[in-house]
Amino acid sequence: GMGYHGASHGYIADVLSAERTHYRAISCHLGGSGSVCAILDGRSVDTSFGMSLETGLIHANRVGDMDPTMFNFLMKQGLSEDEIMDGLLKKGGLLGISGVSNDLRYIEEAADAGNERARLALEVFVSGIVHYIGAFFVDLGGLDVLVFTAGIGEHSARVRRMVCAKLSALGVVLDEEKNQSCRGAAVISAPESRVEVRVIPTDEELGIASRAYEYLSENQ
Ligand code: AMP
Repeated sequence: GMGYHGASHGYIADVLSAERTHYRAISCHLGGSGSVCAILDGRSVDTSFGMSLETGLIHANRVGDMDPTMFNFLMKQGLSEDEIMDGLLKKGGLLGISGVSNDLRYIEEAADAGNERARLALEVFVSGIVHYIGAFFVDLGGLDVLVFTAGIGEHSARVRRMVCAKLSALGVVLDEEKNQSCRGAAVISAPESRVEVRVIPTDEELGIASRAYEYLSENQ
């Protein structure tokens, strides 16, 4: 499976598979909920989600990967189980760190206005994405295509720039002009980039329909 964003990553894999057969791709679904998926020849081989949607990247309101001893630490601080879960699942993530909003647009505005917590929220978000890309790069034995999708992935040139700036060790070179001007689907890497960087608007409905069709074809 492709994790809880399977319909989205599955759609991305379908787009890439229509162009090529053998490839190593990493799909970054960055929306209110975020996940990174490693794709080998159209098949998911790893994802940042775990048993639930709570692991991996920080999300709009949810903390993502967390030190398991944190729960006990917070209980000893006098918080109830409900308060802790509420903090982890509703008041955490981009909202908790920035203290501004769970919406990245407002966080970017606040960061531009000099808000340090908003800047930190962006940094933490980006560093999580980069950690998964680095791990999956090694898992896949290299990388042909890096894809950004969903609300933030499709619309935040800043997040794409911040992520790609940390991937120079992988041979990623962004064309900043293409990154800024892209609307909808686009290749935003420079010609000399060893990895093709793409923005692909996701289509989860089509992703679900294709998976259902595949399932029915294989099980009739
Ligand atoms: P989604 O869950 O895919 O609808 O994505 C929602 C996220 O996308 C929110 O954090 C929005 O702030 C973010 N988003 C949408 N448009 C933009 C934009 N133009 N710039 C930055 N973030 C955006």
